[in-house]
Amino acid sequence: MTARLIDGFGREVNYVRLSVTDRCDFRCVYCMSEDMQFLPRNQVLSLEEIYRVGRVLVELGVKKIRLTGGEPLIRQNIVWLVEKLAALDGLQELTMTTNGSRLKTLAQPLKDAGLDRINISLDSLQPTRFHEITRTGHLSDVLAGIEAAQQAGFQRIKLNTVILRHRNDDEILDLVDFVRQQQLDLAFIEEMPLGDINDHQRADTYISNEEVRQRIAAAHPLLAALDNTGGPARYYRMADSNSRIGFISPHSHNFCGDCNRVRVTVEGRLLLCLGNEHSADLRSPMRHNVDNDQPLINTIMQALPLKPERHYFNVDEPPQIVRFMNMTGG
Ligand code: SAM
Ligand code: SF4
Repeated sequence: MTARLIDGFGREVNYVRLSVTDRCDFRCVYCMSEDMQFLPRNQVLSLEEIYRVGRVLVELGVKKIRLTGGEPLIRQNIVWLVEKLAALDGLQELTMTTNGSRLKTLAQPLKDAGLDRINISLDSLQPTRFHEITRTGHLSDVLAGIEAAQQAGFQRIKLNTVILRHRNDDEILDLVDFVRQQQLDLAFIEEMPLGDINDHQRADTYISNEEVRQRIAAAHPLLAALDNTGGPARYYRMADSNSRIGFISPHSHNFCGDCNRVRVTVEGRLLLCLGNEHSADLRSPMRHNVDNDQPLINTIMQALPLKPERHYFNVDEPPQIVRFMNMTGG
């Protein structure tokens, strides 16, 4: 089918990030505040409703879906959803971003259900520090999860790392060495001012990806990679390794010009941009028209022109976006 999802700036939307829960077993300091209020269950889409949104979006030309959250693997029956989405005609890639804490048992079922690729978040290789950053997580669980994902046969597993100055910036090279040994990819994400966290002032911890890149390049010369994963990351290779090192730089390299994505929160809110509040409610048209997709399709089509040209982030100002990353669907 020809793509029908074109926004007001001529950008084709073919990539959707579906959040399957706002809840999480971690409380990462840059993502959440310590005391979080999560959504009441009746405001949360059922797995069937999430599938319906995914199916309709694929019918409208979406080629890639990433499941995220919150922590997608704490959603009951997540493997069912993966299996249903993976079977959709026209979907070229189904991926997931997870903190890895439950991958030890779920990696193989996810692979068997048809998940194509997996990103695992990891900010420290030091158990005590890992626990401090995640507030509740255990490094050993995530390392076991990474191993399980490798054994299940996932290829090009990518680690996501948020570097915070004076917190884990001394581990940049350790993380690079780890992915080199394990033959994984690694992407550094600049901390974004989403939500009013209470742990630190983001301006104190912000470190640009350019600085991270220079520190790596001093030890491992980086060659710009030509392949594009269809996301905002810029990738580099090292001559003596298969691992790729990526940089997702919402501050220092604005990637809005070729943005091809939208997000759907677990409340059924279509978010047109990570850094803006423009959105449309998909839950009402869906719940009021259980046997008819047309109102849902109309809502999606009418929302697309709302997609703004770009986002503006400034860590020196109070957050403009009050929703936390776990609500956004990172
Ligand atoms: N719980 C899963 C995980 O941690 O991978 C999926 C959801 S999480 C919101 C997705 C990604 O967003 C993670 O890699 C996390 O490090 C990143 N993230 C969360 N809050 C962020 C923030 N304020 N700035 C930049 N990245 C953030
Ligand atoms: Fe949970 Fe992921 Fe947010 Fe950490 S980054 S608190 S693992 S949703």
